[in-house]
Amino acid sequence: MNIKTTNLKIEGMHCAGCIEDVSGELRKISGIIDVSIDSWKKGNAKLTVEDGVSRADIEKAIKKAGYRVSRQISEFGKEFDFAEQFDLIITGGGSAAFSAAIKASELGKKILMINDGLPIGGTCVNVGCVPSKTLIRTAEAFHNSNHPNFFGIKHGKNRINFKEIINQKRELVSDLRQKKYVDVISDDPNITVLKGHAKLTGKNMIEVNGETRTADTILIAAGSSTFIPDIHGLKDSGYYINDTLYELEELPKHLIIIGGRYIALENAQLFARLGSRVTVLQRSVRILPTEMPDISEDLSNYLREEGVDIKTGVKIHSVLKQDDKIVLKISVKDNDEIIEGTHLFIATGRKGNTKNLGLEKLGIETHGNGFIKTDEYQRTAVPNIYAAGDVTGEHLFVYTAAYAGALSVKNAFTENKSEKDYAVLPWVIFTDPQVAGVGMDENQADAAGIDYDVSFLPIENIPRALAARNTKGFIKLIRNRKTDKLIGARILASEGSELLMEISFAIKYGITTEEIKKMFHPYLTLSEGVKLAAIGFSKDVNKLSCCAV
Ligand SMILES: Cc1cc2nc3c(=O)[nH]c(=O)nc-3n(C[C@H](O)[C@H](O)[C@H](O)COP(=O)(O)OP(=O)(O)OC[C@H]3O[C@@H](n4cnc5c(N)ncnc54)[C@H](O)[C@@H]3O)c2cc1C
Repeated sequence: MNIKTTNLKIEGMHCAGCIEDVSGELRKISGIIDVSIDSWKKGNAKLTVEDGVSRADIEKAIKKAGYRVSRQISEFGKEFDFAEQFDLIITGGGSAAFSAAIKASELGKKILMINDGLPIGGTCVNVGCVPSKTLIRTAEAFHNSNHPNFFGIKHGKNRINFKEIINQKRELVSDLRQKKYVDVISDDPNITVLKGHAKLTGKNMIEVNGETRTADTILIAAGSSTFIPDIHGLKDSGYYINDTLYELEELPKHLIIIGGRYIALENAQLFARLGSRVTVLQRSVRILPTEMPDISEDLSNYLREEGVDIKTGVKIHSVLKQDDKIVLKISVKDNDEIIEGTHLFIATGRKGNTKNLGLEKLGIETHGNGFIKTDEYQRTAVPNIYAAGDVTGEHLFVYTAAYAGALSVKNAFTENKSEKDYAVLPWVIFTDPQVAGVGMDENQADAAGIDYDVSFLPIENIPRALAARNTKGFIKLIRNRKTDKLIGARILASEGSELLMEISFAIKYGITTEEIKKMFHPYLTLSEGVKLAAIGFSKDVNKLSCCAV
């Protein structure tokens, strides 16, 4: 016969004698081996029982003694025992948390997920990937309808209804939140979701809604939020961040964006295409400063052609809200300027959501903007406390957050431990043309001391792009000259992200450019560009006939 422990919280006791009453009733049940109740005030009961003892019998006995089992309602309306014991407590309810919870449930673990701030699903579905990408698609469709690439299609005079655009975005967000988050776990008996701010109060303890919960393993998956720079007047200016921008009721007349990386640029183009005047203020000397200059320069030119005003080398001295205007005093490469707009969007990087999480007392170390340091197994400085996703400051994408959440669980609960591995990490910036990358660029190959060469293929060499009359950008393949194996790629192309996975496979599995050249690539597809770029290492592709190698 198996013996197990059941935890309960008993309500209604008012004196020490009540403990005797309820213990007496419980002990009458055959199969109950031990009953221990901490105090009549707290009512925390720990029962040692044989496997066959039913939950209903326990509750009946407590009721017979005149008391009741305390229950709580979870976020999805499920009742659960107040003192239920969990194997894993997760702080946060975004992608890292969901992937971790699902993995832990598959392993038969009991999970408590605690989420607050953003609705369930966290950043990606509510205020990040999903709203931004559907609005980017909307803006692209509108832009293309009024700027056709073909002489035979006359310039359209389509207009937008911004409110309907936002409503349609809301529908998608709510639909995906329901289908990809709520529905996925709401019937899972192993996963309980609570709404409330979680705070670590011990290495096994979390405080939420004034109560303490314990578990052997804790996962911090609290995500990140916009890092707000310290600029005079900014706090009172009514600025927007990604949490609020996609809920605007009216299209901004003049949107000023502080920042020059992916969130700034995706939104700059999206709002410009919808009809806003857009000014981008970037502190560095170029946008996307961590990329090679060819990407930054060409993308700047394409965005400028669409009317986005990009200022680089900008210092912002002050921000002032004046009636319905926002006035910024700035200097651009040491020349003072005043910029007036109607809306201000801050996209100056992210910070870990670690304020008031109780990390300091436990000695959990942070780095950069409040991000949690983790080791190769996703562990924090406290071995049973793991961290995953944006809160670690590592690769702030939804697919890496999900990967790290699942990895934490695997490492915490199985013998089969794995180190995190980001050696082949494809990524995309959803401007048009998109910027897509995987592996090393030239600077990184230099730093790694690799003997490499580069094949640079302008998109105008790809028949598919010629047919679409859209020849913006290039494909750049970087290979190890000695082994002929690819080590990286950078793509600037409309829908260029769709080329990334072939290259990623090649890098991961050590496929040579010679082997890529031998693969059939259908005519006319964009993926022919990868083959042409592979050929470009040894031949001038301008001298090739159609589909020749
Ligand atoms: C504008 C924008 C666009 C993006 N686009 C893309 C994209 O196209 N592709 C892509 O891969 N990635 C994209 N990202 C990044 C992606 O959204 C994040 O990497 C991902 O959502 C991180 O997931 P997470 O689970 O780590 O954190 P989150 O999803 O942020 O979840 C954390 C949750 O925990 C809650 N929380 C915080 N503290 C506590 C606490 N103490 N107690 C309880 N709950 C707490 C938060 O409110 C939140 O609900 C985008 C991000 C932004 C901002």
